[in-house]
Amino acid sequence: MEYKRLGKSGLQVSRLSFGSWLTFGKQVGDTTAEDLMKLAYDNGVNFFDNAEAYAGGRSEEVMGEVLKNMGWRRDSYIVSSKVFFGADGGKGGLVPTQKGLNRKHVREACDQALQRLQVDYLDLYFCHRPDKQTPIEETVWSMHNLIQQGKVLYWGTSEWSAQEIMEAHRIAERYHLIGPAMEQPQYNMLVRDKVEVEYSQIYKTVGLGTTIWSPLASGVLTGKYNDGFPDDTRLGIEGLEWLKDRALAEENLGRVRELSALAKELGTTMPLLAIAWCLKNDNVSTVILGASKTSQLEENFKAFEVVSLLTDEVMDRIELILKNKPEHPVF
Ligand code: NDP
Repeated sequence: MEYKRLGKSGLQVSRLSFGSWLTFGKQVGDTTAEDLMKLAYDNGVNFFDNAEAYAGGRSEEVMGEVLKNMGWRRDSYIVSSKVFFGADGGKGGLVPTQKGLNRKHVREACDQALQRLQVDYLDLYFCHRPDKQTPIEETVWSMHNLIQQGKVLYWGTSEWSAQEIMEAHRIAERYHLIGPAMEQPQYNMLVRDKVEVEYSQIYKTVGLGTTIWSPLASGVLTGKYNDGFPDDTRLGIEGLEWLKDRALAEENLGRVRELSALAKELGTTMPLLAIAWCLKNDNVSTVILGASKTSQLEENFKAFEVVSLLTDEVMDRIELILKNKPEHPVF
């Protein structure tokens, strides 16, 4: 496993990490969840990603049980949660005070995540989306206070604009508060703008770290949807029709079919090519993997071996297939 500093922080995060969206407490049983986390940890993964909203809070409960059962030293792993959407506990419907980035919900959501995960502090705490109803100043103070209280070590954002992240830094600087250390954006061969263009300046100015999500575009970049719809996959889960429609756009499938042929020519697999392509970007601190089966994780950990196959020539061929390289604005 390779490790990298998370942005400007001193925290060394494994370049492949593991998250539980749509799997823990939902698609997979608790025994599989434990097998997946154990496999990840044994392969050097030190960061486990979670959020209050995943399976309405149940995902954190499952992860918390595994952390307790495994008995791993608390100083050997990083665990995160995220606040914004609220955790409905499967009951459906949240009242306004149970969501957002206001001082009340940030404080209560953190306490609830600590309980569900059965830990004394969160290593990373993310604002899961920007909250247009709450001044950024209130959120920065709330996060800073959690750090002062010892409940959180580093805070960050997810899917915030560069402008919003810089506003948080401006406020932190003005009041001598601790600003955000990392952002969690989607990044994969099909979704590139934020990581490659929008944040390009702030990697340098504020030392932004990135913990990127959906490296396989929810499985589309494995090539398994190239020739039809296999059983027992994420995009078949009831209620995720919105994700299925977006992910399986014909334009995406056409690209993945061509990329799959390239992967074969290189002597590798489509999932490994897609993950290695993310790892090759030096502004990516860690690639958060998702998996519903241990065999998937076993395969995906081999991605480091594929990075060296991504020569300039191969990267150019990938660009020719993708035809989606985001442009830097020219003035
Ligand atoms: P991916 O895009 O990598 O999708 C993972 C899924 O792809 C697996 O669950 C599995 O689904 C399939 N898969 C993985 N490896 C293979 C393989 N080798 N062969 C075949 N199929 C494979 O990642 P996720 O979308 O799961 O995102 C990763 C993490 O990022 C999440 O767990 C979460 O922690 C975080 N995240 C954060 C978000 C945010 O807003 N901040 C949003 C979304 C995710 P299947 O069951 O179909 O086989």
